Amino acid sequence: ATPTAVMVATGVGAKNGVLIKGGDALERAQMLKYVIFDKTGTLTQGKATVTTAKVFTGMERGEFLTLVASAEASSEHPLAKAILEYARHFHFFDDSSVTTDTQNIAKELKSGWLFDASDFSALPGRGVQCFIDGKRILVGNRKLIVENGLDISTEVENFVVDLEERAETGILVAYDDILIGVLGVADPLKREVSVVIEGLQKMGIMPVMVTGDNWRTARAVAKEVGIQDVRAEVLPSGKADVVRSFQNDGSIVAMVGDGINDSPALAAADVGIAIGAGTDIAIEAADYVLMRNNLEDVITAIDLSRKTFSRIR
Ligand code: ADP
Ligand code: MG
Repeated sequence: ATPTAVMVATGVGAKNGVLIKGGDALERAQMLKYVIFDKTGTLTQGKATVTTAKVFTGMERGEFLTLVASAEASSEHPLAKAILEYARHFHFFDDSSVTTDTQNIAKELKSGWLFDASDFSALPGRGVQCFIDGKRILVGNRKLIVENGLDISTEVENFVVDLEERAETGILVAYDDILIGVLGVADPLKREVSVVIEGLQKMGIMPVMVTGDNWRTARAVAKEVGIQDVRAEVLPSGKADVVRSFQNDGSIVAMVGDGINDSPALAAADVGIAIGAGTDIAIEAADYVLMRNNLEDVITAIDLSRKTFSRIR
């Protein structure tokens, strides 16, 4: 293709909300063999909401939720935000001792309803740890609980498995080294996902899903959208390695992602595609940015590349 053709394609892309940062990526997109999608915020809407809060001890529900929210208060993770939102709602609206009049809410927010948490640490791919009332609290996945030497009872395990089979994520809570409860978090899929996956397959491109989330949830999501190749429980540092493993035999690989976690993988891919609503770091690392946040534009981008570079023989 001539430089003019590349300029024209870049213009057509821009008009469709597909920002193309360079001619090289535009050229590579016609040769793609694999498109690897991040799950959370890319295939899903990234709007996690708590669906379930189950307490396994005698602890009062309100206290449990405030405890978990207090532990998550310093976390930037979308799961933490969902938990805080849920606990806040319970605290201010579902507790009959609290009126819902706005002045009161403002007053209570100002006075603070969370417990003091100290020594907070975020554990990538696992969850959070801190201390409340001198006792350790852990909020996260199985790996977090098991690595800290705590037992997961059959009752708790079964509860988590049920959530995961519904494509939800189970978040386990241990306080003072005892598993006290589980939260279920759902993040709905973007509407267009199945159509996009089918479209890629028709183009002879293999869709793949990569996620830090657990295997069972990952498989449930993949099954729903028609993706056969799944890589789950990948630590934030490991997504780029997954990309490289697909490139090993010389295949051209695209990565589609939205998060800080995804930026090394976006950079490692032959074609990095960031969701416009994603974090700045991901957008910076990518070759393409989908400004409409619609995954159908992955197909638009590949089509554009094919039309620009394919020669009629
Ligand atoms: P991804 O963005 O690919 O889903 P992450 O590495 O951010 O993956 O998280 C992987 C898993 O680690 C989550 O699904 C969750 O189980 C756990 N996790 C991470 N951060 C938190 C947190 N702040 N609170 C609870 N769980 C967390
Ligand atoms: Mg993501």
